[in-house]
Amino acid sequence: MTLTPTDMRRDLIGLTREELTETLGAAGVPERQRRMRMRQLWSWIYHRGATTFDAMTDISKDLRQALDRHFRIGRLEIVTEQVSSDGTRKWLLRLDPDARGARQEIETVYIPEEDRGTLCISSQVGCTLTCSFCHTGTQKLVRNLTAGEIVGQIMLARDRLGEWPHQLAANPSPPIGGRYITNVVLMGMGEPLYNFDNVKAAMEIASDGEGISLSKRRITLSTSGVVPEIGRAGDEIGTMLAISLHGTTDDIRDKLVPLNKKYPIAELLDACRAYPGLSNARRITFEYVMLKGVNDTLADAKRLVKLLEGIPAKVNLIPFNPWPGTKYECSDWDTIERFAEVLNRAGYASPVRTPRGRDIMAACGQLKSESQKLRARERLALDAAIAGA
Ligand code: SAH
Ligand code: SF4
Repeated sequence: MTLTPTDMRRDLIGLTREELTETLGAAGVPERQRRMRMRQLWSWIYHRGATTFDAMTDISKDLRQALDRHFRIGRLEIVTEQVSSDGTRKWLLRLDPDARGARQEIETVYIPEEDRGTLCISSQVGCTLTCSFCHTGTQKLVRNLTAGEIVGQIMLARDRLGEWPHQLAANPSPPIGGRYITNVVLMGMGEPLYNFDNVKAAMEIASDGEGISLSKRRITLSTSGVVPEIGRAGDEIGTMLAISLHGTTDDIRDKLVPLNKKYPIAELLDACRAYPGLSNARRITFEYVMLKGVNDTLADAKRLVKLLEGIPAKVNLIPFNPWPGTKYECSDWDTIERFAEVLNRAGYASPVRTPRGRDIMAACGQLKSESQKLRARERLALDAAIAGA
């Protein structure tokens, strides 16, 4: 059945195993059968990628019909799918109407590399934080995504990339290990730790061994530094952690990541030191955006080394990705290399993140949903900035 925005049936995507079990009662499934039915549904939905109850051949026809009357297996609606010249894909997705009937949009990005494929997912529409170098932070509309909308981005990407078993079986050259999406990063729009419960539920579903089966070691949650939630995230969500550091003094970081005024660097790093399960094989990633003349001196690099002392860490240097109206520029390539050199000499792996998908505005910090379309003039200015970066 085609889904329409007026489809009022309950969407099963995003329910935890417990919620799904309970919900089955509404379709008249007797209590003693509910767990078994839940497991069947779980496998069809999250292992096999079914989008209709009709496909569920090990469930009786009557029950399938009853399920179809009450529930749906939703998919986010694709507004646009763009493929960058470097293979990066970006989807603009439209959400179901909210309580006021508004249909907001989010972006999800897939980045294929030789040895991995990373899906970058959003946790909120927009972001309440206002990091001065981030495009998402300029978006006014903000709401938390539901667990279904978060895990739904992975489901949608699997559909489009052809990662469900029936699609792989028909693929003459399937990927090694059967996966296009080997890693997931919560680095799209939004601050995941401001949407803790839904992010937690969605990651539970994504890592469930009888479904999507992504190891939590291959999921990275990136935070701008919501200190009180960091330890809890380690205990309850249990993914890898990335910290958007970007500055080495409170003065600089206050300007880049205003949340620093509330949770300054020293407190942030204390929370990192206490993150459960850290070891040399399980490091925290520190993200550091390279901004010309702002945070890119050798003195910054040396301070960064000092700050990270004693924390199993790697540093991800991110060349700044420009967006229309920004006051920042990306550091020169030489400067980035010299910065990386200081870190390397101190023993920190510090890969420079190659900008991907810049031509389709899919790179870090460029995400902002299409509800605020670029005007032609802005587009030209951006192209010029990218050409010069
Ligand atoms: N809100 C979370 C996760 C999303 S942002 C966070 O801030 O960590 C993902 C990463 O992209 C963050 O490290 C963010 O600081 C970085 N980023 C934001 N804008 C950017 C830009 N214009 N260029 C490069 N990186 C940017
Ligand atoms: Fe929000 Fe992260 Fe952008 Fe800051 S960098 S405004 S926290 S999405």
